[in-house]
Amino acid sequence: MNATDHLHLRRCVDLARESLDAGDEPFGSCLVDRDGIRRFEDRNRVAGGDATQHPEFAIARWAAAHMTPEQRASATVYTSGEHCPMCAAAHGWVGLGRIVYAGSSEQLGQWLMEIGASAAPVAPLPIQAIVPGAIVDGPAPEFADELRSLHHRLHGKG
Ligand code: ZN
Repeated sequence: MNATDHLHLRRCVDLARESLDAGDEPFGSCLVDRDGIRRFEDRNRVAGGDATQHPEFAIARWAAAHMTPEQRASATVYTSGEHCPMCAAAHGWVGLGRIVYAGSSEQLGQWLMEIGASAAPVAPLPIQAIVPGAIVDGPAPEFADELRSLHHRLHGKG
């Protein structure tokens, strides 16, 4: 992970905070093409009742509609939290490239356990268990405290 990766992860964590401030869960993601241009970004939008409205899923759909297979394969997806199995599958199906995440699913599980939040209905499998060929970097330890506090705030414990 380099300084450019850190910059894009910073944006993802800021999106996660915006999401929480807007009443959604604290997750944010962005899609960066091979030239380093941020092409699309989104945040969690599950507050309306559709629990599939994750930003990484939105990125996969956007990429399928707007990028060639070659552009997708050479793009990088940055995200505040490691992809869930649904989003990892979408990423794999549309042939996107490298994934860089700030916090892992394992960390999220630990934070939710500390809070006493109920377990998610979907298993927290690592991305490579869903997409064996995926190139994945993370977690980025410098964001751990901040992400942990966002999840504590979500559950009214921070
Ligand atoms: Zn997801």
